[in-house]
Amino acid sequence: MNAERRTQNAELRKRFTRTFLTSVFCLLPSAFLFGQPAPPQYEVYAVRYAVIPDLPVAGLIADADKSRKLDIAMMVWLVRGGGHTILFDSGFYRPQFFKSWKVTEFVRPDEAVARLGVNPEEVTDVILSHAHWDHADGADLFPKAQVWIQKDEYGYYTGEAWQAGGKHGGIDPDDVQMLVRINLDGRLHLVNGDQEILPGVHVYTGGRHTWQSQYLSASTRAGTVVLASDNMYLYENLEKHAPIAQTFDRDSNLRAQDRMKGLAARPQLIIPGHDPAVLTRFPKVAEGVVRID
Ligand SMILES: [Zn+2]
Repeated sequence: MNAERRTQNAELRKRFTRTFLTSVFCLLPSAFLFGQPAPPQYEVYAVRYAVIPDLPVAGLIADADKSRKLDIAMMVWLVRGGGHTILFDSGFYRPQFFKSWKVTEFVRPDEAVARLGVNPEEVTDVILSHAHWDHADGADLFPKAQVWIQKDEYGYYTGEAWQAGGKHGGIDPDDVQMLVRINLDGRLHLVNGDQEILPGVHVYTGGRHTWQSQYLSASTRAGTVVLASDNMYLYENLEKHAPIAQTFDRDSNLRAQDRMKGLAARPQLIIPGHDPAVLTRFPKVAEGVVRID
């Protein structure tokens, strides 16, 4: 009886040791090597929803020749992966903007992203680079989305900007009310500076295009892509190391552009906010839509 129990115990010990060693040698290295789950590889698309013809380049690039004009692309960017369908910026659609601007080739932003097979209800997140009309106005076209904006951007444009001495150029009162409604609805997220807001999706401040504008980076199969939005209007800003024409702080804007170079896997993956060349430098996947990577 005792001998039998001893054999059983020895067998159990052996089995335990085997299991333990297997755990140590198989699980520990994987914990060390893969302790942080790899971020999803996102697909990133630029979606043009309109063109504003003949815009003076001096309005985009500080100190540019005043006679130069450009048909600028109005874009939103779709970032898809890891169970999220993210829009970086949301374009515009309210009627007042068509009275004050000449707009051609307009497709409402929710219809423009439908060209990638995305229904408005499927957009999980709208990340706003800043509160200007042509980037934030369309946020309420995506009724289920969580909306992300810098805390200081939201605070300033829903408050102090409208007091004496405040600056609210390019901010539409309807959009301010819309953002407040989204906040009351429980869908607004206030981002405090540089932050990873979803796995592999970071936002960074620094351009001071508006009170606290932000740009975005996402991990893709080609490495990190940077979506600059208006913190870098055109490729020319980066190529000439020229600040954007509209910023509260030129030095801060240049520092932001320099930082983008350090973040992006390669300089070609820094995507400017309004450059029509984006639509020709990347492969076309639908009308007005290119895949960045
Ligand atoms: Zn802007």
